[in-house]
Amino acid sequence: MMDIPFWSREIETAERSRIEQIQLERLRDTIGWALKTNLYRRRLTQVGIGSPDDVKSLADLRRIPFTTKDDLRVSFPKGHLAVGMTDVIRVHSSSGTTGIPTVIYYARQDLDNWTDLLARSIVATGATSSDIFQNMMTYGLFTGGLGLHYGAERVGLTVIPIGGGNTKRQIQVMKDFQTTVVHVTPSYLLHIHSKLGEEGIELKDLALRKAFIGAEPHSENTRRKLQDLMRIDAYNSYGLSELNGPGVAFECVCKKDMHVWEDAFIVEIIDPQTGEVLPDGQEGEVVLTNVVRRATPILRYRTRDLAFLHPQGCDCGRTHRRLSRILGRTDDMLIINGVNVFPSQIEEKIMKIPEVATNYQIHVDKKGALDRLTVKVEIYPKLFLGEVSKLEALKHRIVEELKASITISPGVELHEPGSLPVYEGKAKRVVDERPKD
Ligand code: AMP
Ligand code: ZN
Repeated sequence: MMDIPFWSREIETAERSRIEQIQLERLRDTIGWALKTNLYRRRLTQVGIGSPDDVKSLADLRRIPFTTKDDLRVSFPKGHLAVGMTDVIRVHSSSGTTGIPTVIYYARQDLDNWTDLLARSIVATGATSSDIFQNMMTYGLFTGGLGLHYGAERVGLTVIPIGGGNTKRQIQVMKDFQTTVVHVTPSYLLHIHSKLGEEGIELKDLALRKAFIGAEPHSENTRRKLQDLMRIDAYNSYGLSELNGPGVAFECVCKKDMHVWEDAFIVEIIDPQTGEVLPDGQEGEVVLTNVVRRATPILRYRTRDLAFLHPQGCDCGRTHRRLSRILGRTDDMLIINGVNVFPSQIEEKIMKIPEVATNYQIHVDKKGALDRLTVKVEIYPKLFLGEVSKLEALKHRIVEELKASITISPGVELHEPGSLPVYEGKAKRVVDERPKD
């Protein structure tokens, strides 16, 4: 049995009944705060919850309507704020690309609780105060930077707050400071790997041993590829700004999906069509209630992320249930000539083909009346030096692999490394140029 590290052993290994007792107490408290907001006051009273005492058991949660991103947009800027601005000490905002952003406020204890969840997450991966931590996530309104930053400081890692981008400098800093742990999007770490050679740096010049990867969807094959290329362990990290940011769920040393910190979050998986709550093991939309939120209490938030909860425990001894990796989003499904295709199905297939390098893009447009799906993949440069027939064979193999998964034959283009767009934060994998009607 390996030595399992803990930050708060008692709570991380608490019996189910104890976790539920904590959830109920904290949910009641949260209802009290939510009732102070314009967003929730009417919604809660309408379903007969006019005070925390009206919540008798955890089952009462299901009486509360879901909260959506649109609800938070309508509440912009302060309709969901439960405290006075003097008690707010930080603001973050979601990375939404269009329209009104969603804003989240943090009181002192919110930041303290969030930091603690991240400290717990970091320790769960086996990182310690001896580690040198290079935080490659963007600092600023995006929660990925500051969230992990404070968590890592609390555990005592040496934090290098480099932020996102500037690949040359990232690589140099990794070498100079002998960085052992990075926090990064998987797509950006793959890009960094492809640039090591250009900087004259080999893996043996680096001391990297772990990566916390998150903020964007990725498949198990991408994780494997990253681990093999960089010779590291990569741990999946999940969160969203509406629920603090990172630290909602994190993988432990077992690397078998992410523990949701259930003393802080009540997690439900629902059928996205009907809203019905599904049993453990069944895939659906993740719905989260944060029960330790003071400034911005959020109840039953529909994340649009698709995943399932593992019905059984974990070898590490933690009792908090594990959430699968994010399998897609309710809003990222592509319909190609009537066939439903999830970008995650494509990524999973191409990332296990050894000739495929580190970047790809899914392109959709229209030719005449028909939709046209093209998967553009970068492949290792030496392949372009060989015979053309080999390239044709590779292309054919990729088409066949994809067809087996998505049932339609996409076009496949082979590109040299460095030719497809690179993203320093969240990657934009799908370019859909079909006319909107
Ligand atoms: P933001 O609010 O900008 O932090 O974005 C949150 C969203 O990023 C989530 O709802 C997910 O769709 C995505 N995301 C965050 N972490 C992960 C992860 N580990 N795997 C897949 N998607 C993720
Ligand atoms: Zn575990």
